[in-house]
Amino acid sequence: ERRRHDAPHVALLAFPFGTHAAPLYSLARALAAAAPGAAFSFLNSARSNASLARSAAAAGQAPDNLRVYDVTDGCPTGYELPADDPEEKVRLFLGVTPGNFLVAMAAAEDGGGRKVSCLVSDAFLWIAGKMAEEMGVPWVPLWTGGPASLAAHLHTDLLRLTIGAGKQAIPARADQHLNFVPGLSYLRVRDLPEGVVFGNLNSEFSRLLHRMADELPRAAAVALNTFAGLDPALDAEFSAQFNTSLPVGPLNLVAPIPAGPDRHACLPWLDSQAPASVAYVSFGTVISPPPAELAELAAGLEASGAPFLWSLKDEWRARLPAGFLDRTGSRGLVVPWVPQVDVLGHVASGAFVTHCGWNSVVESLAGGVPMVCRPFLGDQRINARVVSQVWEVGVGFEGGALTCGGVKEALDLVLRTEEGKRMRERAGELRKKAVRAVGPGGSSVQNFKALVGIVTGN
Ligand code: UDP
Repeated sequence: ERRRHDAPHVALLAFPFGTHAAPLYSLARALAAAAPGAAFSFLNSARSNASLARSAAAAGQAPDNLRVYDVTDGCPTGYELPADDPEEKVRLFLGVTPGNFLVAMAAAEDGGGRKVSCLVSDAFLWIAGKMAEEMGVPWVPLWTGGPASLAAHLHTDLLRLTIGAGKQAIPARADQHLNFVPGLSYLRVRDLPEGVVFGNLNSEFSRLLHRMADELPRAAAVALNTFAGLDPALDAEFSAQFNTSLPVGPLNLVAPIPAGPDRHACLPWLDSQAPASVAYVSFGTVISPPPAELAELAAGLEASGAPFLWSLKDEWRARLPAGFLDRTGSRGLVVPWVPQVDVLGHVASGAFVTHCGWNSVVESLAGGVPMVCRPFLGDQRINARVVSQVWEVGVGFEGGALTCGGVKEALDLVLRTEEGKRMRERAGELRKKAVRAVGPGGSSVQNFKALVGIVTGN
């Protein structure tokens, strides 16, 4: 029997892959700061917690009422994850879920002496909804991606029914617009994430997201890393589908976690560049373009003549074309990690060559920087379409892949033409809207207050 008058204890359950845990951790910090009388326990794999701790250390001490706990990730000690199967670690993790979270939650309850009174989780972890139901407490999932991809997942059944599913569905219909799905008519079948109508419908992710779509409408509230008005049609759609829809973003503006020290001196280097002149290149933490594309990109950067800052992991550096670093050293900086939020907020950044992971898109928007989009998988194609077709603050590539000529042309367009200037102005307008949403009396601030009320039971 739950003691009703216990002080609230909110457990936050992270999905520890890609850049999923970071926005949930931002939210945890913001919630803990807003509700000092409540306890917050952040449950995440040791590996993901360690990488968050590195950047969080730079953000200063976390609020006292926020504690971090490790959960086992299901990966046996000494087991070498197969390089050709990126889903294996996800399968292992989900194989020990929810047991791993229950163990950590028990430790968190023992540690603070307070029963957990609410579960906040990454929306991917629909199982948290079931756990919450059993515990008799509210569940509040956070969707860390963009609104359009969430809408696509919510309508998976409709999409499969209308388009068909499996291998045959695609070639014939790849360019069909999704005008039968509310708010998504600008998307084509080919933009959908794998596992919705094409690709492996039985993959771990496909099943996870399909099930999530069924469970989200049961949540007490759904929090989103976006802001009201960014996609008005979907604001209405989510308000209709969910018990409470709470766009509380952009989280990088609400609760910024600096990306750690500027070890490679990117910011002083940017200081020496002209305003809006630099092409910043990064494909996030998971993806790297295949070697041939990497070479095309390097050639394109060289041909464009623009100054560039490239976040490229050391293991990929060796794949750059021979002599590239020497030839471009005077106007290019290639480093394994950059403080991206600060880079995109720097006045010298003029274009962002990106895979369109949602965190990157939102950070670019918050910096008012137009994008050159090379999406690879998951929600990235949808995000790229939103950037180029709906917001008109970026360009994609004919045929999708990076080519030397395509990169040069895209950078010329964004950095050196009137159209590029207009993109930058539109990006600046979106930036203003985002800043208003998180400013005094802004919609994200109001929604955040409502969220604090829901998770603390007040
Ligand atoms: N990031 C960074 N420095 C880098 C590369 C990436 O700070 O050199 C951060 C970036 O700011 C963003 C995250 O890594 O918050 C990437 O998230 P996104 O959702 O774009 O892509 P994912 O890593 O999930 O593919």
